[in-house]
Amino acid sequence: MSTGQGGKYEDFELNRRRLFAVGGGFLAAACATDTSGPHAADDSGLRSAVRGRVLLPVDNGFDQARKPWNLTVDQSVRAVVELADADDASALIRYAQDAGRVLAVQPNGHNPSRAVDGTILVRTNRLNEVRIDPGTRSARVGAGVTWGQVQAAASPHGLTGVAGSSPAVGVTGYTLGGGLSWFARRFGWACDSATAFDIVDADGRTRRVTASSEPDLFWALRGGGGDYALVTALEFALYPVSGLYGGKMLWPVESAPQVMAAFREITAAAPDELTLWWSLLRMDGAPPMVGIDTTYLGDASAGRALLRSFDSIGGRIADTRRLMPTADLGDTVGEPTDPSPIRSHVELLNGLTDSDVETLLTKSMEPLGAIQIRHLGGALTRPSDSPPGGVAAPYYISLIGSQGTPDAAAANENRIQEYLAALARSRSRRTPLSLLSPVQTAIDALDPGILNRLRAIKSSWDPNGVFRSNFPVLDPVAGR
Ligand SMILES: Cc1cc2nc3c(=O)[nH]c(=O)nc-3n(C[C@H](O)[C@H](O)[C@H](O)COP(=O)(O)OP(=O)(O)OC[C@H]3O[C@@H](n4cnc5c(N)ncnc54)[C@H](O)[C@@H]3O)c2cc1C
Repeated sequence: MSTGQGGKYEDFELNRRRLFAVGGGFLAAACATDTSGPHAADDSGLRSAVRGRVLLPVDNGFDQARKPWNLTVDQSVRAVVELADADDASALIRYAQDAGRVLAVQPNGHNPSRAVDGTILVRTNRLNEVRIDPGTRSARVGAGVTWGQVQAAASPHGLTGVAGSSPAVGVTGYTLGGGLSWFARRFGWACDSATAFDIVDADGRTRRVTASSEPDLFWALRGGGGDYALVTALEFALYPVSGLYGGKMLWPVESAPQVMAAFREITAAAPDELTLWWSLLRMDGAPPMVGIDTTYLGDASAGRALLRSFDSIGGRIADTRRLMPTADLGDTVGEPTDPSPIRSHVELLNGLTDSDVETLLTKSMEPLGAIQIRHLGGALTRPSDSPPGGVAAPYYISLIGSQGTPDAAAANENRIQEYLAALARSRSRRTPLSLLSPVQTAIDALDPGILNRLRAIKSSWDPNGVFRSNFPVLDPVAGR
């Protein structure tokens, strides 16, 4: 890594972590549970119904156990169950059916919402099998496995999954939500690479769901969310890579126009193997910066050549680009892996006009910490039968702020709304399901026809509503 202007990159790293950590204390206090509240009805029968750990509001550790990764949501659940194994899932579902309870499966809470209030929260962390088959280029993983674990296991075989930016994100939740990968331009939605799901259905029966065994349910699980069954394991394709070149470049914010010009020029003609994200970054105690995060599926010299327009932009503060094993994919951006109070708004953009660029380059972003434009296109534009479908939008925008206090929340919200108003002409008003924020609903992610088909599948597979996802398809505004 070169840090042309000594020390600034280290400051950036420190402050990047601060951006996401600020406010944890405020939210921890806000998360104190009233055990005399509406969920105080007796769930002590859970302790004998399942073999995994059960935490009720009366138990020490309950408040910690019910916290999601994204600390902006105070989940008011009635119990937390850590499943011992897949059989335990059947036992829990039978309990829920008998007792009239609703289950919200949430491996770690990267994408929480108030829709889970009043439910039993189900943790799947102990379902941690990771099996890589280099011969068939496929993986089988338990429902508690993260992308970092898959990439680490696949990397020695020269293989990659269709992984996202954070190694801490769960493979199951990401895939059920579609999954927009660093490599989406090459391989499409992650859900399109899923080949089988092991589930426990609403009657507590285990099933292996494939395109031929249960075509409707298989279709819904490939990107239609977590509303239909409890997934205990899934299988998906891996892809051989001849090399992975990538990393982060940073400049002082004064270089933002040149960096944006190069970003637009390169993304207009990029091969599907190349992906770029442009970012404005603002963190307390560090100078504002503009950055490019990039991955290229190929060798370093070809990657460098494709990105050469950035080399003539002076004053570069950092350049971490290198040839890396696929296990190190998460280092590309270095997103936070510890729980954080994050407010983000993601939206597909139908274009990036001169007027949009002017907004991005001239508008004050405070108090937001990051604004990103991510390049889409490539394989995502091809027709896809799965719920997220093909994506014509060439970019998406991500507006991100840390929100530890009500004041910060209001200020973030105002700024986000200002950006959305200024970018109105290019907005799609559509957010990928996996990237919805807690204030959005499934309606913001899925076309009405797709949503209706998913609703019919939900009604057929879970008529009593035992499962509730973070973004329910039947009652999208529940808990909002
Ligand atoms: C730092 C960070 C980086 C991210 N990067 C990307 C990215 O690059 N691309 C992208 O597409 N998304 C990304 N996301 C979003 C992420 O994919 C979603 O938050 C996803 O839902 C995370 O899954 P999880 O299991 O980790 O989260 P959780 O919040 O634990 O689960 C999300 C939902 O998945 C469903 N679910 C999970 N497991 C099961 C199961 N076993 N059975 C039934 N339903 C289940 C449930 O409905 C649950 O509410 C990122 C999020 C964060 C916080």
